[in-house]
Amino acid sequence: MDAGAGSGAMGRFALLQGESAGGRQAYEDALRLTGLPIEIKVVDISLPKYIPMRYNLDDNRIEVNSSRKSERALAAQEMAEELFHATDHLGNGYTLSAASPLFDMKNGLLMLELTQHYNHQGYFKEFFDYPLDSFYYGFKPDRIKAEVFARLGVLYFAHPEVLKRELPQAYEVYHELFGLSATDPLNTGYVRSKIWTTSRGASQDGMQSQTKQKYGTDHAASSGKESASELGRLRRTISDVLKSPITGQKAKL
Ligand SMILES: [Zn+2]
Repeated sequence: MDAGAGSGAMGRFALLQGESAGGRQAYEDALRLTGLPIEIKVVDISLPKYIPMRYNLDDNRIEVNSSRKSERALAAQEMAEELFHATDHLGNGYTLSAASPLFDMKNGLLMLELTQHYNHQGYFKEFFDYPLDSFYYGFKPDRIKAEVFARLGVLYFAHPEVLKRELPQAYEVYHELFGLSATDPLNTGYVRSKIWTTSRGASQDGMQSQTKQKYGTDHAASSGKESASELGRLRRTISDVLKSPITGQKAKL
């Protein structure tokens, strides 16, 4: 077993070779590896040196630092995290993660499991220095919840088996959301079994008018419409599994 997971690309992301060709490539790689139904603007712009990329809540776009050299594998992994932020953020600063009792800072099932792992120098300790190193980052609770939600998702898509071994309760939650599994032990391929169909009698109609409003009726590309409603269903599923209201909660970031 290696020493732990830290700052490099991991698992399925680490299989990508070569230098990053920028935001567009990272976006396409991350979509392919996660299957997240996120259609979002990605721009390569000048950012402070220490920020590789970020999800901009106000403009609902992902900004990639154009002056930073990066490996394709790491760029894809960082992009996957931003896609999770875009999934979590419902607009106007409302997030699903802020409203989830599983992420409650004191009693949340997933937060407790992670902070214990972190405090006992677990395998993913270094990976979670961001955002859990409170001395260095000093994030507010809702920001920590958003980062933890996104970074657990990254780990799930990087190597679900290792997440299962190290953080079994987190694994169960993400596995219920995405159902990623190896096609067979001799193959490096994975399949995702969940397609985010409506479950538990959730109303299709309500969801569709909601996504229409959000994306605008003049959204021409049919693939866009398809992924917009798929995103609505994914968020419905996340709200079910995270026990968060579908409207989320205004996050104090
Ligand atoms: Zn993040």
